[in-house]
Amino acid sequence: IRSKLPHIGTTIFTVMTNRARELGAINLAQGFPDYDAPTRLKDLLALHVAAGQNQYAPMIGVAELREQIALKLGASYGRVPNLDSEITVTLGATEAIFSAVVSLVHPGEEVILFDPSYDSYAPAVISAGGRPIHIPLDPPKFQIDWDRVRAAITPRTRLVMINTPHNPVTTVIPRKELDILAEILRPTDALVISDEVYEHMIYDGARHASIVEHPELYERGVGVFSFGKTMHATGWRVGYAVAPPDITREIRRVHQFNTFSIAHPLQLAIADFLKEVPEHNAGLGAFYQAKRDRFLELLRNSSFSWTPAAGSYFQLLDFSAITRQSDVDFADRVLREAGVASIPISPFYVSPPKLSVLRFCFAKNDSTLEEAAERLCKL
Ligand code: GLN
Repeated sequence: IRSKLPHIGTTIFTVMTNRARELGAINLAQGFPDYDAPTRLKDLLALHVAAGQNQYAPMIGVAELREQIALKLGASYGRVPNLDSEITVTLGATEAIFSAVVSLVHPGEEVILFDPSYDSYAPAVISAGGRPIHIPLDPPKFQIDWDRVRAAITPRTRLVMINTPHNPVTTVIPRKELDILAEILRPTDALVISDEVYEHMIYDGARHASIVEHPELYERGVGVFSFGKTMHATGWRVGYAVAPPDITREIRRVHQFNTFSIAHPLQLAIADFLKEVPEHNAGLGAFYQAKRDRFLELLRNSSFSWTPAAGSYFQLLDFSAITRQSDVDFADRVLREAGVASIPISPFYVSPPKLSVLRFCFAKNDSTLEEAAERLCKL
C-alpha cells in the first residue's frame, strides 16, 4: 500500500514501554503515573455508570464539564471562555491537536514546529497535506531562537505550534516570549496551537504563561489541555481545546466526524470532582516538585548531571560523563544494564544534533523512584 506517512514508525513511547515490559524494567519512559487516580474520582465514575449515563455525550462535551473548564481557566488565566462557542472536550490532547491541525491547515501550507517536537505534531500536519517547517532547539538550553522564527515566516505560514511546559525538554516559554511571538505574527494570518498539557506542573515559583491569557495570541490561538495529566488518569483520554468561536467552529467540523463525542460518564465524573475539590489543580505544582526534587536527591551520587526541570513531569539527565554513545544507544544500554526505561530525545528531531541527555518520567511512587535511582547510580 502507498503510505501517506511513510516516515512514521511506531511512537517511541510505545516502543520503549513494550521493551520495558519484555525486559521487566522500571518504566520511566512513557509519561504516566504509577499511582492511581483519586478514589473520589473513581467513585464518581462508578456512580454515573450505575445511574445510566452510558449513551452519547453532546458532541462539544457535557455542559457541566465545560462549565468547570471555564471556571478553571478564569481562575488560572483571567479569561472565562464562552461555554458554547469556545470550549470543545476531546479524546485527550492528542485528538485536540489532530482535529485542530486537520481543520486549520490547507494542503501546501506551512506549519512551524520546534524540534524536538512532540511526536504527534508532524504526522497531523502531513495528514492535513501541510508542510512541517522544523526549527531546532539547540542543546543544552533548548531555547527558542525567535530570529529563526522570524526568518521562517512566509506567505504560506498557516500555523505555529508551541508547547509549554515542553515535552520532552521540560523548558517553559516565559510571558515575554509570547509577546515576541505575537509581534512576529502581527503582520501575518498565521494561527497558533499552544499545547499546555503540563500547565500545572511548573516549578521553583515560576508561573505558567498560557495562550488563553494573552489577548493578542488568543485571537489567533488554540489552547490544548489534558485531564489525563491533572487527574492522574492518562488512560481516560479526556482533554479539551479552547479557541475563539471562529476557530472552534472549524475544529468541531473535524472533531464531530473524528471521535464525535467523548465518553459520557468520564466527563460527568471529572466535572463533579472539580466541583467537589476545586483546590485540586492548585496542589499539583508542589506535588510534582517534591517528586522531581526527591528523584534528583536520590541521584546525587550518580554520574549524571542535570538542570532541574522547569516544568512537566519529566527530568532530563545528562550522561556525557558516562559515555560518548548516542542517546538512542545509551537508552538501550540503560534499559539492558540498569533495567530502567527512558526516552531518547533525538527521535523528536528531523535532523538531530549530538545529544547526551535522556528523558525520565518522575510521576512515580517514591518506592519506584528509589529503586530506579539506585539502579541509575550504578552506571
Ligand atoms: N505524552 C506521553 C509521553 O510523553 C506519551 C503519550 C503516548 O504514548 N501517546 O510520554
